[in-house]
Amino acid sequence: MRIIREGIQAAQQVVRFDCSRCHAMFEATAKEVTFVADFRDGDYLSIACPTCKDTCTRAAPQGFVSW
Ligand SMILES: [Zn+2]
Repeated sequence: MRIIREGIQAAQQVVRFDCSRCHAMFEATAKEVTFVADFRDGDYLSIACPTCKDTCTRAAPQGFVSW
């Protein structure tokens, strides 16, 4: 088999978060984040901050695959 383009695996998709409350910076995989479809303001990702447990959100990157 000859692979023309490799598919994106959830574990390979890493997004960076910057907590606006405690300023923690961390990375999470697509499987760890919650994908929120928002047609008005744009899709975004949500996850609990590992430090302060506050909900961190950021815009979903272009081409992001939700799981
Ligand atoms: Zn935090």
